[in-house]
Amino acid sequence: MSMVYDEYGRPFVILKEQQAKNRVKGVDATKANILAARSISNILRTSLGPKGMDKLLVSPDGDVTITNDGATILSQMEIHQPVAKLLVELSSSQDDEIGDGTTGVVVMAGALLEQAEILMSKGIHPVRIARGFEAASQVAIDHLAKISEKVEFSKDNLQPLLTTAKTTLSSKILQPHKEKMAGIAVQAILDVADIERHDVNFDMIRMEGKTGGSLEDTCLVNGLVLDKEFSHPQMPTMIKDAKLCILTCPLEPPKPKTKHKLQIDSAEAYEELYNQEQKYFRDMIQKIKDSGANLVICQWGFDDEANHLLLQQELPAVRWVGGVEIEHIAIATGARIVARVEELTPDKLGTAGKVEQISMGTNSSRQQDRILVLEDCANKKAVTVLVRGGNKMIVDEAKRSLHDAMCVVRNLVKDNRVVYGGGSAEVSCSLAIRKHADTITGVDQYAIRAFADALDDIPLALAENAGLSPINEVTAIKSRQVKEGIHTIGLGLLSLNETEFTIDSTKGDHTMDMKELGVFETLIGKQQQMQLAAQVVKMILKIDDVISEGQYR
Ligand code: ADP
Repeated sequence: MSMVYDEYGRPFVILKEQQAKNRVKGVDATKANILAARSISNILRTSLGPKGMDKLLVSPDGDVTITNDGATILSQMEIHQPVAKLLVELSSSQDDEIGDGTTGVVVMAGALLEQAEILMSKGIHPVRIARGFEAASQVAIDHLAKISEKVEFSKDNLQPLLTTAKTTLSSKILQPHKEKMAGIAVQAILDVADIERHDVNFDMIRMEGKTGGSLEDTCLVNGLVLDKEFSHPQMPTMIKDAKLCILTCPLEPPKPKTKHKLQIDSAEAYEELYNQEQKYFRDMIQKIKDSGANLVICQWGFDDEANHLLLQQELPAVRWVGGVEIEHIAIATGARIVARVEELTPDKLGTAGKVEQISMGTNSSRQQDRILVLEDCANKKAVTVLVRGGNKMIVDEAKRSLHDAMCVVRNLVKDNRVVYGGGSAEVSCSLAIRKHADTITGVDQYAIRAFADALDDIPLALAENAGLSPINEVTAIKSRQVKEGIHTIGLGLLSLNETEFTIDSTKGDHTMDMKELGVFETLIGKQQQMQLAAQVVKMILKIDDVISEGQYR
């Protein structure tokens, strides 16, 4: 603070650090960051596992989402704290790469940060902690590869794929229907996969949600499903051997680009103008027909008159088809997207064996819900999962759950190694890391052990969320894994063939062999979780100064 005088001799005070007073440095900065990140991971912790709770999120415009998918929860929360945002990105990068395990990765990062805080209070420097965590994560990743098992599957033996998909679905809204849904997820992936080359073209799978019906009515369609209908009710509802053109221009007479005024002062002039417009239209439609098309997919709309003309000329059309759908139709039918009617040639048309408009439900109060189904497309691999459900929230959550299950099956087609769930892989890694820590001299040993403690947090959270005693369960898993030497012992919360909670109250604990129970997780998913969590924690621990814009002096 300093006192200065202006040219009239009046004193005033300059507070130099006024704006910079929020700046935090050193250990305080690290601790504040850890606190912010942990508050985020604590929110997700209760959503982990088959008995995890859901979150209800309300967007600023009142839209409600109910979900227990980590990436969705975080992406819909309004988070401003910069370090907390890192965890949001952590979850979304797990989602992009793997598609599942988005809650687990954040819980893991939170547990690591909790351990880091304890070590810092013992006086260990954050950089050393980060170094220890990195070394330990490498041990864990190597150990996971060691304990992983290859599952062999073929077109005749899909059981391993179904079981893994079912594990993912156990913690989701589709849990009661997981048998059927796992089948849909596996079939959808197999339809677009090249098993020999371990390649899955995910873009070929479309998800379409339609409210109405029940989750049980969800189905897989061989082709494309569009939430659209023909533009005129009198158009035929089924077209065989469709040759379709995709237009991204409106079907209407061109409008002058500059402002103009048109004065029509006689009935003849009006008539002439009307005829001119009609002729333009007819020419347009004729050009489309000349190309050989018998179906028009238009990105834009056309007015009633154009619609009527299309009907007259027996050219069925679909209007207002969105950009993403247009691309999917183009890929599936082999059509080229055309921006001007003049450019339309026969080689730019796509083909579909059958295009049918189907009515769904019997909602008589409103217009019936209709969808368009394009079957036997030129590109045989395109498939659509049509998700049905009582309301929009259920349909959206079911879409997310099926997406996760399909991602897991895709990962398995790419790399068929699995580890076992229910916390068994984490406990096994934790034991291996502790063993490794004994061979290390120096302070790093503390950080490596702390990583092992953090891994225990996953089974602890699973047990806590299921209303069990966490410490009892985790110690029981550990002792059985060590005594019996079986690394697949974990916390059995839900048998894959049952829909009810299978807790045997006469037993002291709920440890089970996850292999027998059939709780699989992909190796690459689990490895990615540990690697990403360790990386983000290292990043957070290495921050020792938080400088916001305009606050630096
Ligand atoms: P994420 O979004 O991280 O996939 P989930 O809520 O789907 O989180 O929970 C996944 C966790 O639940 C994994 O650790 C998995 O091993 C565990 N899990 C899934 N099914 C079972 C089961 N039947 N018994 C015990 N644990 C299970």
